[in-house]
Amino acid sequence: MAELKLQHLDKIYDNNVQAVYDFNLDVADGELIVLVGPSGCGKSTTLRMVAGLEDISSGHLIIDGKDITTMPPKDRDIAMVFQNYALYAHMTVYENMAFSLVLRKENKNVIHEKVLAAAEILGLTDQLNKKPAQLSGGQHQRVAMGRAIVRTPKVFLFDEPLSNLDAKLRGATRREILLLHKRLKATMLYVTHDQTEALTLADRIVCMSMGHVQQIGTPLELYDTPNNLFVASFIGLPPMNFIEGKVEDGSFKSEHISFELNGEQKQLLSAYNGKEVVVGVRPENIIKGSTCAMKVTLNENLGQTTLVHGNVGGQKLTAKFREWCDYENGDEVGIAFDRIHFFDKESTEAIR
Ligand code: ADP
Repeated sequence: MAELKLQHLDKIYDNNVQAVYDFNLDVADGELIVLVGPSGCGKSTTLRMVAGLEDISSGHLIIDGKDITTMPPKDRDIAMVFQNYALYAHMTVYENMAFSLVLRKENKNVIHEKVLAAAEILGLTDQLNKKPAQLSGGQHQRVAMGRAIVRTPKVFLFDEPLSNLDAKLRGATRREILLLHKRLKATMLYVTHDQTEALTLADRIVCMSMGHVQQIGTPLELYDTPNNLFVASFIGLPPMNFIEGKVEDGSFKSEHISFELNGEQKQLLSAYNGKEVVVGVRPENIIKGSTCAMKVTLNENLGQTTLVHGNVGGQKLTAKFREWCDYENGDEVGIAFDRIHFFDKESTEAIR
């Protein structure tokens, strides 16, 4: 169990690529933090700095009040579960899980207890005598987690642990990790490029882009009140629709879609008269109505919901209706927006 503080962390690689800029985060004891963002945004680099696998160019890393910025990985009491979980092929599941404790010359009885306890948590009790080749992909991943659990580390680090699994197994293993976290109440840092994993797993999400933290908050905060256009477009699936336009005399006006602002919106945008803004509307916030008419280009039934893609003039939109729809291409459907986000076009920041 541990509190973790990442203070002003920078990473500049030897080739002068700066991968991480001024990363600040206080992780509470038992918290599950998900670092999310597109490939190359600096998530793994941040995680590897915490693990001690990359030097920290500047800044400090503190665990339970102790500065471990330059401490070698083996002394950090941190366990990492990787995307490529290499198990020792010639060892049984039991031996794989016990390996790090054997290296540490732990007492045999203690090792036995820890391995059995971890196997119980992970549902691997029946698999302990098997070799890795006899296991499914999901079981492999659980053994990899078991190897981390037996060490009872202060902090668990996960680097895209699900990305080698197929879609079905990914969902199941994701739920196992969530249950594992609830059961162990351990401090965890989890890296993924998948916003669904971030929303479903995290106590708090750190959303990154190009080495910079864009927003830190609960999944609901990032979904409901994104800080800027980047977070708004990255979190949520299908992504938010964006409409570029202007505020003019109490209305939002764009080339294809215009509507009158309500009292609250007028107040929010009082400093923006004549200025360019971006309206953001999530597909689930498009409802049937009379703001404008959308011409359907594709009707995708998902069962409980239907994704209806279309356009209003040259403005593309995707709506998610909570019903089965059977629109044909070319049909016109009257729509309105029941929740709208506004962004400053120039700064890309949310207007709040
Ligand atoms: P992510 O995990 O978000 O995909 P990374 O942390 O792996 O991103 O990479 C962040 C940036 O740092 C990228 O531009 C990547 O090319 C660069 N980078 C990663 N590792 C190295 C390295 N060992 N040497 C130089 N540049 C690197």
